[in-house]
Formats: sequence, C-alpha cells, structure tokens
Amino acid sequence: MNASRRLTRRQFVSSGAVVVGASFLPASTSKGAVDQDPAVDAIATKGESKKRERVPWKVEPFPLNQVRLLDGPFKHSMDINHQWVLSLPTDRLLHTFRINAGLPSSAQPLGGWEKPDCELRGHLAGGHYLSACALAYAATGDEAMKAKGDEMVAELAQCQEKLSNGYLSAFPDEFFDRLRDGKPVWAPFYTIHKIMAGHLDMYAYCGNEQALDTAQKMAGWVGHWCEGLSDAHMQRVLTVEHGGMLESLYNLYALSGRGMYPFIGNRFTHREVFDPLADHRDELKGLHANTNIPKMIGAARRYELTGNERDRDIAQYFWDEVTSERCYSTGGTSNGEHWNTDPGKLASELGKETEECCCGYNMLKLTRHIFGWTADPRAMDYYERTLWNSRLGTQDEQGHKSYFLPLGSGFWKSYNSQWDSFWCCTGTGIEEFAKFADNIYFHDDDGIFVNLFIASEVNWPEKGVRLRQETSFPEQDRTTLTVSAPKPVELAVNIRVPYWATKGGTVKTNGEALPVFSNPSSYLALKRTWKDGDRVEVSLPMSLHLDSMPDDRSLQTVMYGPLVLAGKFGGEGLTPELTYPGYGPVPKGGPATVPDITNHSMDPLAWVEPAPNSPLTFQTARQLAAATLIPLYKLSGERYAVYWKVKSDRPRRFES
Ligand SMILES: [Zn+2]
Repeated sequence: MNASRRLTRRQFVSSGAVVVGASFLPASTSKGAVDQDPAVDAIATKGESKKRERVPWKVEPFPLNQVRLLDGPFKHSMDINHQWVLSLPTDRLLHTFRINAGLPSSAQPLGGWEKPDCELRGHLAGGHYLSACALAYAATGDEAMKAKGDEMVAELAQCQEKLSNGYLSAFPDEFFDRLRDGKPVWAPFYTIHKIMAGHLDMYAYCGNEQALDTAQKMAGWVGHWCEGLSDAHMQRVLTVEHGGMLESLYNLYALSGRGMYPFIGNRFTHREVFDPLADHRDELKGLHANTNIPKMIGAARRYELTGNERDRDIAQYFWDEVTSERCYSTGGTSNGEHWNTDPGKLASELGKETEECCCGYNMLKLTRHIFGWTADPRAMDYYERTLWNSRLGTQDEQGHKSYFLPLGSGFWKSYNSQWDSFWCCTGTGIEEFAKFADNIYFHDDDGIFVNLFIASEVNWPEKGVRLRQETSFPEQDRTTLTVSAPKPVELAVNIRVPYWATKGGTVKTNGEALPVFSNPSSYLALKRTWKDGDRVEVSLPMSLHLDSMPDDRSLQTVMYGPLVLAGKFGGEGLTPELTYPGYGPVPKGGPATVPDITNHSMDPLAWVEPAPNSPLTFQTARQLAAATLIPLYKLSGERYAVYWKVKSDRPRRFES
C-alpha cells in the first residue's frame, strides 16, 4: 500500500475534497527540476542552493522575511520570546566554549543543561541560540537580533580556530572517544548537530558567510571522525541520540554545493530505524521519540536533494503512522519521552510526562516537508492542531518554556527557570516561537495558499501583491483577507477549510456572498483577477466536538474548532518550585483529583455547554461538581484536565 494514500484514522482525516466553483489544488507546478530550497529559503535569493534540489515541492512556503505577524496571540508570544532571547548575555553563552578552547573567560557560567559539567553543554548556547537569532531576524527584521547572532558566530569561530582541527563544541572531543568505544556519554553528536544547524541558519537567514565556513570546518571534522569507523561500528554509534546530523549535512551540501557532505551525511543513516519504516512496519514501540523524529527530517532532505524515493516513503509512512496512531488530541506525541505501546494504544499513556515539547517542534518541521510535497490539507489540519494546542501555550509571560505538556488529569504546566534549566525544549522553544510566521502561507505558480488563521501579512513581490489577513481568531470564527496590488493580478487564493469546519461556512468577496464553499479538509480556491483593495471575508463556524482515545472511547477530550479545551482545577499549592523545577524537567508533586463525568443523555456532548457571555469558555453540565473549560493554550498557573473519563448512565441497548 502506498503510504501517501493511506488515510489516517483519527480526526485529522477527511478524505473528500470537493470544491465548488473553482479549481482545486493544481496537479503540479510547472517549475521543472529546479526548486527553492525550502529548508533554507531566505538564502534562495542567492540562487546557488536552488540548483541542487532534485525534487520540486508542489507548493512552497514563503520565505520567512516576507511574512509579518500582526497583533494576536502568536505575535504576543513571539515578542515575549524575542525579549528572552535578547536577554541572554553573550559572554555567559560563550563561557564553556571558551574554556573548552583554552581561551580566557571570566563570565558567570550558565546553569542547567549548560552547566560546565553537563555533558550536553553548548547545545543551546552555541546551537539553538543561533537558530533563534536567525529566525527572529528573518521574522521581524530586528537588527539587534542579527547583531547578537553575528557576534556569537564571530566568537565561536575564534574558539574553533584555537582548537585548530575544525572541532567546535563546549565539551572536549574526548566525549567522542567514549562514544566510539561504547562507553557512557550523553549525546555528543546531538549537540554537534545543534551547533551546525545554528550556523547554517545564520548563513541562510542572515547571510553570515563566516557561519557557513564554521559549519564546513565542523563537517570536515565529523567526516574525519567517521572515516575510521566500519559501517557496523557506525551503526552502533547511531544507537546514541544524534539529532539531525543527516539533515544538517544534506543542508550543508545544498548551501555549499560540496559533494563530500552527502557522503558524510549518509554515515548517519540509522538502518535499524529506517528499514522497518521502509517496509511499512511500525516498530516504534520502545523507542525514544525525539531521538527519531529528526532522523525522518533527514530522510526528507535526502529525498529532496537526491530524488531517492525510499527516503520519501520512510518519512511519509512515519508521518502517517505517528499522526494517526501515536498522537494525542493535542497533536503531540510521546510519554516519558518514549513510544511505549503498540500503535493506537494511548489510553495508558496519560501522565505527568505526556508529551515532550521537542516532539511537537520536530513533527511540525517534518509536516512542512510533507505538505510541500503533497499540498495535502490533512497535513495542515495536523499542523494547526499541534501549533495551537502543543506549541503556543508552552511559554509563560516571561519567555520560559515547558518541557512536558502533561495530559494526565490534575497536573499543571511547568517551565524552565531563567538560569538553571536550558533544556532541549527550551532550545527548540526559542526557535519555534521565533518562526510562528512560517507556513501560514504557501504558494505555487498560480496562487497563494492561506493555511492558518493567524493575523499576518504576506508580501509576494514576484506577483506584485500583498495579502493582509486580519482576524481575532479564535475569539471570532472568521478572517478577512485584503489585497494590495498596484496593478490587477490574476491569482488563485486557496483558503484552507479545516477538518473541524463541519458546519460549513461562508465566503464573501467585496461584501458579496459567493454561492460556493468547500468540504472540511480541503482548499476553497477563489480564482480571479484581483484589484487593489479587494476583500475576502471567510466565516468558519466553530463547534464543540469530542476526540476520544482510540483504545478507550470513554476517555474524551472536548474540542472547539481546532482548540483542545482544558478543565480548570485551580492553582492551590502550586509553589514556584513546582512551576519552575530547575535542572530536571519533572516537577515534584502529584495530581489533583479530577471527577469523572457522567453523561445522562444520548447526545455524547450533553455534558458540556458554552458558559454564558464568555467567549471560548465552557462548563460541564448536569454534573455533581461543576468545572469550567477554556482553551488549553490559554491555561497557565493551575491544574487542569484534558482527557475526561466519561461514564454513561444511558440504557445500554441504546448505545451505538
Ligand atoms: Zn525536549
């Protein structure tokens, strides 16, 4: 069975895509073999990397620097993240790198996973941090962010120079002796990947040539290290978490054109994980989730740069399997960082450590590739679900990020402390929150795809058109698009109709209702010659719906549109220690008791109803203990419930 045609089982799904009155997704673009490098889009203006792509994307994202967020929850969260990133002093970030290179540093060391004796030190300071600066610069144009990144790149290059063999890290290369010899060591290549990726982002988004040079020297060191190892030995090395080494080495090839990097990258082909996926066998049970998602992004990049269909099949099958069988209603995946169960068995997985935020970050990254290849609206259904529920609400108002997003009832959100955490999820978080503008809009040759209902503006200079999206979604279930174009332009505006829009919707152009709409999980294509000031108003009525556990239908999440609702159970006893646990990401303390729900009606939704006069607020109905529900992304500082145990006292004979 072709994985790309396989339908997912859960609510990400709606297979039909009947569009009235206009053309649906074009079969392909007419661009031929040369395509924009989607992973490093900003640099595509330099031209060279485009030539190396072997597989054109069906639809392409707009470069991040052509999209600007407008006021709304995403811009608010991005701005907070921006300030947090700028607040970290360069000398403190550089301290362990300088010490490791034998350069003087009197800075106060950072704590947490950047502590001088932590084996993961440097992952955020010299890696995620550069990516965050680069993405934030692209997304906002803030020169202070570019200056911060440029300064880090220059200082890290001095450390690399002092080490003299291309190696760059905040820990000694003796860690790699331990890795080679099978002795305990945390994850040295994981950290090297972050540092390489940070430098590639500084080149791609900020044009920093020194960053590309540093990354190439690092890759040279990596190639030399791998050279002495047999294939079987390398496969043993790959059982230790190594992040996106495969992806970064292929990205380096795309950017530099040097043919040695794919060969080095191929040493990071972890066959034990890839082979079953190529045979469409889900053997993910027992694996560490976030170790393996980046490998799939690597397969995706190798497919794009070589045309190797097996890699596409691996990435696509993995994506299908995880999104359909291993994701919660939030779109997140993993429990205790692992996939512990057979496919579709998730009822046992709800706890304090469900789900790791890095997994959401990496699944969204992979989804970007899947959508680019297929323009499949289901990919954007998944993207929207995960973005709103698993990513947006995982930062506090000071910019601190969550590690786990607990889905066990009665737990609460916790965050990194300012100086004593620096977790993996802090790192992926500062990247994610810098690039919320990404993927809202894609395009092909003929038109634009409005994927997400987020207030923003996209500029498409090649077509001489800007599109401004004004919306207070989800407070209001509509959005307005306004065209700016000095000259009339013929264009398809493809508006995503999400899987949850089961009540239909309406679309108006310049105030006039059109007699068309589209099915859930499809794109409504409006093809016409657009003039300056033309307006499109889309209304997408949201409604309550349930998402049940695949292996226990009595465990139910209430959703409203794309939003997972959480029951509020108060902040009593949540001390600062429980909210900011510090080095280890799992706070002490147990859950509050959350009462079961009893449904007295034939209507499965009878136990929840809108709260009067309060948008996006709901309440349980006809229960002994009442509870209020709000969107999970808005909830912080109190205990909550996402999955409810719902018992029915209906006569059994009426059950379907
Ligand atoms: Zn993490």
